[in-house]
Amino acid sequence: MRRFTVAALALATIAVAGSAQADDGPCVEWREAGLIDGLTCTGVDRGVVIAPTSSGKDYAGIFPIAFERFAQVFAPTDQKIALVVQPEVSKELASALAADGYKALPWVDGEARAAMLKASIVKQIEAQTASLPEAQRAAVSEQALAKANASAPAIADPVIEAGSIAHEIGHLLFNSYFDGAEPGSTDGTPRYGSRSPDWLDEAAAVALENETLTRSRYANARAAFAADGTVLPIPVQTYLTMDHPSLRAAQAIKGRGGEGAKAVSLSGDEAKAFLEASGGNPVVFYRQTRLFIDFLTERSGNPRILFSIAKAYRDGGDLAGWLAQSGGENGLPTTLDGLETEFEAWARTTLAQDPADEPA
Ligand SMILES: [Zn+2]
Repeated sequence: MRRFTVAALALATIAVAGSAQADDGPCVEWREAGLIDGLTCTGVDRGVVIAPTSSGKDYAGIFPIAFERFAQVFAPTDQKIALVVQPEVSKELASALAADGYKALPWVDGEARAAMLKASIVKQIEAQTASLPEAQRAAVSEQALAKANASAPAIADPVIEAGSIAHEIGHLLFNSYFDGAEPGSTDGTPRYGSRSPDWLDEAAAVALENETLTRSRYANARAAFAADGTVLPIPVQTYLTMDHPSLRAAQAIKGRGGEGAKAVSLSGDEAKAFLEASGGNPVVFYRQTRLFIDFLTERSGNPRILFSIAKAYRDGGDLAGWLAQSGGENGLPTTLDGLETEFEAWARTTLAQDPADEPA
């Protein structure tokens, strides 16, 4: 018997190796086309990871978790994702990915982010110190870099990075659900997410974040509550109809990025301008979204409550209409006013609790 087991195991190993080879199929095609020179390309379940050889991180591990979470909160999806660990995806690679059914997710890893930040600071200093002698310029530059590094270390915590990538995967999967797999022939203006309202786009993304990122959203909300009693920083009616606070700035940056998909990474000055242009603080939008998801899910006892609401929007409805029709049967109010009152009360109780008492 033992011999047969060993033989079966050997066969299984070959089968696994064989299928992994098959999954890398598009990689071979893209490599032969010269689209991924100098990069590794790894097929994973539902996607592919294209990264610099130096990148030792296990980005592939993020995929099954994010897709499983999407299936739990929304529905299983066939959409494929290509995580491209590069600040820019060339127009040629972007169209090859699209032709093979992948949505591209450009990602700037910590190392590249640090390099971009450094280059941007050096450029600014050089422009500002053009009249100074070379030695002095170098000293100023060095000082500025040290200061920037101390105030915001450019290398991200890998767990936070994994949560952030899952967030972006959530945007792409929801976009695919809401608008269809094709990029959609909308009115031509670039959209941050899908054609759904921004709160729903963001809810789909925040819902896929990992525990660490979720905890940081709560810590943020608790800090605001402790500081000045803020429970819901944005009135619910505004929240449901507003543009994502980074929308306009993100569009401006996309616009200047030229062709192909482009990840956004900003220097200190750019980040400040970005926030000013956005007319608000995106962090506040995220933390209210986290609370809203958890309120809806807890009250309804339905882990797919967002999916139910998203379907209503996709059919041309909105939250007010959904509440009137389905709020009652889901343990929720039937009007937006009622929703605001109950959501506020729930959030107040939740934020007043000791985080140690809470289920993770
Ligand atoms: Zn987002």
